[in-house]
Amino acid sequence: MELWFSEMHTPSVKFSIKVDKQLFSEQSEFQRVDIFESQEFGRFLILDGCMMLTEKDEFIYHEMISHVPMCVNPNIKKVLLIGGGDGGTARELLKYETIETIDLVEIDEVVINACKKFIPQTSACLDNPKVKIYIEDGLKFIRHCADAYDLIIVDSTDPFGPGEGLFTKEFYGNCFNALHEDGIMVNQHENPFYRKDSIAMQRAHKRIVSSFPISRCYQLHIPTYPSGHWLFGFASKKFHPIHGVDFNQWKSLGIRTKYYNVHLHRGAFALPNYVENLLREVE
Ligand code: SAM
Repeated sequence: MELWFSEMHTPSVKFSIKVDKQLFSEQSEFQRVDIFESQEFGRFLILDGCMMLTEKDEFIYHEMISHVPMCVNPNIKKVLLIGGGDGGTARELLKYETIETIDLVEIDEVVINACKKFIPQTSACLDNPKVKIYIEDGLKFIRHCADAYDLIIVDSTDPFGPGEGLFTKEFYGNCFNALHEDGIMVNQHENPFYRKDSIAMQRAHKRIVSSFPISRCYQLHIPTYPSGHWLFGFASKKFHPIHGVDFNQWKSLGIRTKYYNVHLHRGAFALPNYVENLLREVE
């Protein structure tokens, strides 16, 4: 008998992966947490039926959410990582000796424990002494932060369920207040391709634009995400994501990556016309 995992990307589009076995399943206080094993994508994490990461393609997401801001500002020391309980983003950030602390605020300890047990590829770094884990709602945690961080990465689920509050004007305004005067915020920003997701993307962009003086989007391709065409938001009080960036300085660090490079960094901010138009509609 064949076992398949399927995710509805729209009511009429289904994405399926043939599964060798299910490794974990638990209904936490916040969401359903599942981990499967597959031939094509290795092990993969599902939250409330939505693909979060696979062993095969997680490097794309975690490198692009981390190395773009780290290249823009080489002096980032204190990072707030909201969500990211799988550890992949923290793993990439820890490649930089300049980073002193990563405050990781994850609402669901079940995610952390399940990834520690079944997906060490991303979670192994969570025991690093630079990583301080808070099992809290990021929306509440950020309310008590002022002028505390150089970088905030919102490595969240989608704008429904526990992640919904992380796409609000209140949250982005509090992120602005929590950042130093040269702070950067990067956030998981949905996809521009499917209508429901593009509306969520526009709503988030409109709210970020009203909170930050510099606000752009950049793109990456994630084979297992809806449409495969994904966006991250780049918001900043001071730094443009390309103009004035010392790309040679980043290259001199010798950081090893499988996806990110400085040419791709520049290219990722060159968006298709239909995406530019969606963003311009709400700016
Ligand atoms: N890094 C993964 C990837 O490669 O796409 C996906 C993101 S990570 C698994 C998303 C995390 O955000 C989940 O562990 C979820 O529990 C967490 N999360 C959702 N809402 C949250 C909130 N309000 N505060 C803190 N963490 C939250």
